[in-house]
Amino acid sequence: MLDVVAIDGPAGTGKSTVAGQLARRVGAHYLDTGAMYRAATLAVLRAGVDPADDAAAAPVVEAADIRVSVGDDGDTVACLDGVDVSREIRTDEVTAAVSAVSANPVVREKLVALQRLHAVDDFLVVEGRDIGTVVFPTAALKVYLTATPEARAERRHRQNLAAGRASDLDEVLASVNRRDHLDSTRAVSPLRPADDAVHVDTSDLTLQQVLDRLTELVGE
Ligand code: C5P
Repeated sequence: MLDVVAIDGPAGTGKSTVAGQLARRVGAHYLDTGAMYRAATLAVLRAGVDPADDAAAAPVVEAADIRVSVGDDGDTVACLDGVDVSREIRTDEVTAAVSAVSANPVVREKLVALQRLHAVDDFLVVEGRDIGTVVFPTAALKVYLTATPEARAERRHRQNLAAGRASDLDEVLASVNRRDHLDSTRAVSPLRPADDAVHVDTSDLTLQQVLDRLTELVGE
């Protein structure tokens, strides 16, 4: 393993954009672990299984072939059983169910093992919720991105509109708050900053400013 930069934080802090662009800047590979949990959730929904039914969801996810990579445009490409599902994993239906599937210990065990494989011989920027605390606790640099709920909802709302998805700001705010509550109160690997993480509040920073700050941290 060369080295890992772990970027964690709640939904809508700009993690994906920041992590992807930081990786390009510093010549690292980029891994979006949320896309893996989303692909697992899509598999569960397609199987007609209740996302909160751990016993029923576990074998579905265990049997699923989940791969996440980066396309030529720098965006994350997620494949489920050999088929590109990059768009399908971003639907409201998947977003509403992903916290339940992510709280399943069997799902986490499988996906954490897959995530660690990515780091075998790579310089990696990894983004998620438990990267600095569980997946790569010895990461060279751990960053915890935060922002006010309003700033995070606003960001997600703009991303939805830019992607041509219908979006209502109040609904997005409620969904972001609900997901963060579920992610930070679950029994396994809850969302929380690692003790040695550097906290960066992105509420009033531009993407460029966040990138500059993180590039500075990587170089330290
Ligand atoms: O980052 P993104 O919003 O795509 O993540 C979707 C969901 O996947 C999160 O709300 C969380 O439930 C789950 N997740 C997780 N652990 C990670 C990454 C994502 O539990 N490392």
